[in-house]
Amino acid sequence: MTEAFDVVVVGGGPSGSTAAADLARAGRHVALLDRAGRVKPCGGAIPPRTLTDFDIPESLLVARARSARVIAPSGRGVDMPIDDGFVGMVDREVFDEWLRDRASRAGASRLTGTFIGLERDPDGVAAVLWRPKGSDETQRLRARCVIGADGANSQVARAALPGQKAPFVFAYHEIVEVPDRADEVFDGRRCDIHYDGRFSPDFYSWIFPHGGTASIGTGSAQKGFALRESIAALRIKIGLEHCRTLRREGAPLPLKPLKRWDNGRDVVLIGDAAGVVAPASGEGIWYAMTCGRMAAEQVDVFLATGDARGLSGLRRRFLKQHGRVFFALGILQRFWYASDRRRERFVALCGDPDISRLTWRAYLDKGLVRSDLLAHLRIFFKDLAHLLGIVSPWRRAPGRRA
Ligand SMILES: Cc1cc2nc3c(=O)[nH]c(=O)nc-3n(C[C@H](O)[C@H](O)[C@H](O)COP(=O)(O)OP(=O)(O)OC[C@H]3O[C@@H](n4cnc5c(N)ncnc54)[C@H](O)[C@@H]3O)c2cc1C
Repeated sequence: MTEAFDVVVVGGGPSGSTAAADLARAGRHVALLDRAGRVKPCGGAIPPRTLTDFDIPESLLVARARSARVIAPSGRGVDMPIDDGFVGMVDREVFDEWLRDRASRAGASRLTGTFIGLERDPDGVAAVLWRPKGSDETQRLRARCVIGADGANSQVARAALPGQKAPFVFAYHEIVEVPDRADEVFDGRRCDIHYDGRFSPDFYSWIFPHGGTASIGTGSAQKGFALRESIAALRIKIGLEHCRTLRREGAPLPLKPLKRWDNGRDVVLIGDAAGVVAPASGEGIWYAMTCGRMAAEQVDVFLATGDARGLSGLRRRFLKQHGRVFFALGILQRFWYASDRRRERFVALCGDPDISRLTWRAYLDKGLVRSDLLAHLRIFFKDLAHLLGIVSPWRRAPGRRA
């Protein structure tokens, strides 16, 4: 027997669970398929608007960071306080399960197992092949629409939109128990970000507080860069080498939206599967959920009209809202993360109050900040001075050694 659904969502991470919940609420017959058993490797940092945009209870936050400290290759660090907000931290094991459960409470059928492939029934309708957890038997789900929300190594993408590959950073982190204290070495209300070629030649390294634990991680697009050794060295540098390590894990982080998200017929990709992660920061949770929500709206239109342009509209709509930010962050990453000399200048710039304020506004509000024209002009001229090397990196922001 093949059970028939309006939509089969493959992948129950933030993007898939959001799309499944919204479509179920809209009255669609939805299946949410996720393989169980693996916690998504993730720093877990989210902007607080995630709570309001997606109705997430504050109780899911395991920590709130009130500032960031960015550290240059020379060891100098600058503080970037968040005046009127915080960075929320979630534990992905709990957060993702809560999202899947919400989708199920909204009416989606939760299926635990692995996506195997796609077939076509004789009438042309898609059939999703999947294997329930602990079973060798392949089962089928008939679907008027399939949403591929199965992450950066998407099998749905491979089956329905082959031949596309987004550039990616491989990100690795360790979850460690941390001392209950707030000082130079570690502060449970602060994110530490190291821009240092020894720990990442082309990205950054982080220490994010998670209550009694912390995520200490790094990333690189360079094949063969020794991520584990990098974290071992970083932990020695920050004095957390003897803390107990609870997990070691990594995953690819796509850094560019794919050219095609849909097959022009009935399959559409979202979240990491579509390459929706902000360059430079690697932020993907809020974007995945936003993409999942937009996808639900577009798929609902597609189901009502049968017009596949409903699906192709998703990429256009998403990039219209977020494409410029992604583009700007891509340039920022390519330029400032290219050498230790530039990283040193970049960190010094972060200590500038205008830049710090606008960076946080852009992160918290999600968008290019237009309001403060004078601040933009000041930043432009400071940037220019640094680009041309006519000021020394630390002239204006005398960062202290971290
Ligand atoms: C080390 C690291 C640190 C990160 N830190 C942050 C951070 O601090 N803040 C932030 O915003 N973003 C961060 N990200 C990015 C963020 O984790 C992703 O962008 C986000 O999880 C994307 O959500 P998604 O739902 O699209 O995909 P995923 O979260 O990857 O979810 C995919 C789901 O699909 C399921 N699945 C996969 N294959 C199959 C299959 N064959 N069959 C059935 N189910 C399947 C998986 O079980 C999973 O639940 C980080 C990423 C990494 C790797």
